[in-house]
Amino acid sequence: MSIVYSVLCMLCGRLSGHLRGAKFVRAGNAPPLVNRGGRYRCGFCGGNLYLEPEDTMTRLYPGDVDEAERQAS
Ligand SMILES: [Zn+2]
Repeated sequence: MSIVYSVLCMLCGRLSGHLRGAKFVRAGNAPPLVNRGGRYRCGFCGGNLYLEPEDTMTRLYPGDVDEAERQAS
């Protein structure tokens, strides 16, 4: 099982897509990443990207409710 990371921008904070193992999956509403000098940048603003581990693994169990999310609704 591979860990899934969210690919987020440090500048605008927008989600560019997800990294599943070594494979990048672009988000449906995001422009393609910009390749500058061999480094990928945000397709929205050209900012630096960072990875954040997805929390989908913790949601595999039915009935599991994220407490913060439940209180927000
Ligand atoms: Zn950006």
